[in-house]
Amino acid sequence: MTGEGARLRSWWGRVWSTAVPWIPFLGVFAIVAFAWASLVNLAASANHVPLVGPRVAFWSETIDAFWHLGTGFLLALPARDRRLLFLAPVLSLGLDIDHAFGLLLPASVPRPDHALLFILLITVVAALWKGRLPALATAGAIATHLAVDGGDFPLLDPVTMARWPFPLWASALALALAGALFLLALPGPRRWTVRRAWVELAVIVTALVLFLALVGPSAWLFLSN
Ligand SMILES: [Zn+2]
Repeated sequence: MTGEGARLRSWWGRVWSTAVPWIPFLGVFAIVAFAWASLVNLAASANHVPLVGPRVAFWSETIDAFWHLGTGFLLALPARDRRLLFLAPVLSLGLDIDHAFGLLLPASVPRPDHALLFILLITVVAALWKGRLPALATAGAIATHLAVDGGDFPLLDPVTMARWPFPLWASALALALAGALFLLALPGPRRWTVRRAWVELAVIVTALVLFLALVGPSAWLFLSN
């Protein structure tokens, strides 16, 4: 095997050994996310909100997926922790499990998991089952997702199906909060007291906010929801 091949294999080996212990947790995240989306859609259609779709949007969904993976990874970088570098992007992308409704199945409520009560539920599940790091990684990953997603969200579903956009200041706040949660997720006073980490975080948040201000997530991705 060439040196390049061996390096690639050991890189994949490290990613794989980081990912494997989290597979049950990610499975439960997916099940809870899908169940929440199902219940919200059932509740809405029981209230005579019309069902729409499904529709196919392969390219915008693919670009959207890389956007969420990339932004999750960037915000976890200052923590320098392999678990967070894996969990933050994957959980940030995972929030879009609710796109199954609308893409593969008919939907009454687009993006039903983009809601505060869902965030609370999944964070409590993560805290009770896995503890501090996965709970803060979950909350931070979802905050990252909402900050860069664009469009509007049913933030108070299933109480109301009304939708709200995220203005730029809310995105900036959510990005800073997400990065802070990733640093605070680390055990003990290990990393979050390091000034270098907070400086890096400030630079990354500023760069993302500038990108959102100048380009905008939905304008860039051509997303309709
Ligand atoms: Zn989304």
